[in-house]
Amino acid sequence: MLAATEMEFLIPSRQSRPGDDPIFTLHAEATKRAKAGEDIVNATIGALLNDDGHLAIMPSVVETLRNVDPEVGAAYAPIAGQTEFRTAVIEDVLGAHGLTGEALAVATPGGSGALRMALDNFLEPHQTVLTTSYFWGPYRTLSDEAGRSFATFKMFDDAGRFDVVDLERKLDALLSEQGRGLVILNSPCHNPTGYSLDAAEWDATVTMLERLSRKGPIALVLDAAYAYYKKESLDVALSALSRLVGKTQVLVAWSASKSFAQYGLRIGALVAVVPDAAQRVRIDNALTYSCRGTWSNCNAAGQVAITRLLVEPDLRRRALAERAALVEMLSRRVARWNELAQGSAIRYPRYDGGFFTTVFHDEPQAVAARLREKGIFVVPLAGALRVAMCAVNHGEIDRIVTALHEVLG
Ligand code: PLP
Repeated sequence: MLAATEMEFLIPSRQSRPGDDPIFTLHAEATKRAKAGEDIVNATIGALLNDDGHLAIMPSVVETLRNVDPEVGAAYAPIAGQTEFRTAVIEDVLGAHGLTGEALAVATPGGSGALRMALDNFLEPHQTVLTTSYFWGPYRTLSDEAGRSFATFKMFDDAGRFDVVDLERKLDALLSEQGRGLVILNSPCHNPTGYSLDAAEWDATVTMLERLSRKGPIALVLDAAYAYYKKESLDVALSALSRLVGKTQVLVAWSASKSFAQYGLRIGALVAVVPDAAQRVRIDNALTYSCRGTWSNCNAAGQVAITRLLVEPDLRRRALAERAALVEMLSRRVARWNELAQGSAIRYPRYDGGFFTTVFHDEPQAVAARLREKGIFVVPLAGALRVAMCAVNHGEIDRIVTALHEVLG
């Protein structure tokens, strides 16, 4: 008989999972060195910090959360989410686009949960999801966990613009191979590049999707995690995407994490625009079933509070003003970065808002290691280094740019 130590209890596909998230590992090292007294710039983590290094918090959100009736907060929320919450999110996303009557939403734990719902319901197991070549790492993790494969298209063409041609090539091939496609696009304020697609890029993307949608079912997830950090860009995206309704499955992964500065609250939603009523019921049922089978139901107090902040005029006004101040703080950092880095050896895509920018480089690990020797922590990715502008103040931006110039030569 085999001893327990000689047996492998984990199934083979899980035996070599990495234990640590690389970003959190870097963040932990930066924090440790700072605690030991070093003057560290920690541009790793994706949360908005005030200029004094403390987490930026919106007082109206905290107050509304405190005021949730304890009995409501302690009770289970409905599986698909509270009706008022679902309606408020649909209105928030689509109210300006005349599509609320054709939409449904289910509550999810953050935008991450919304992405998981999309992967589970719009691709068969083992089929491949497509996203940009620079991408938020958890896209791959979410796909792995959902038993879906993962592929990318080249995000930028030679002119540094969104590469719709490569997207079409890859999506067309996937449609031929697997008979359906699922694409995740994160805009505005793409993580990790900071890029927001402009009207011409959305127009070209939508025209291409209209064409390919004749070949087979395509679902497009607009990952709107940073929606409020460049709201006008989100509206440009949704105006273009409204042309696809009824042809391509338009989905929006909505999140309260960044919009309400409540990363730990785990409130999000998957919104689907489905003009056909019978199809809408089927999709609603499928998503609700998935919610039940994945996390059962979401944070009840969080849904109550976020709903009130979305719909009650006074709270809504306060939240908008507090958020505008945060966006303004971040905009000043973006301007400082552009002022110092533009036209220099630092190559990075158009950056006009959002939590991150990326510096292109062929040897990101080596550059990141040299920056760490100078006390500067950024995140090396394939072909680039992510700089979390959300986490650094003006003085630190100056230090990052100076160090980059020294390292890049
Ligand atoms: N999508 C992107 C691109 C993100 O950067 C994040 C968070 O960092 C999310 C989605 C989802 O975050 P959450 O699950 O906290 O809403």
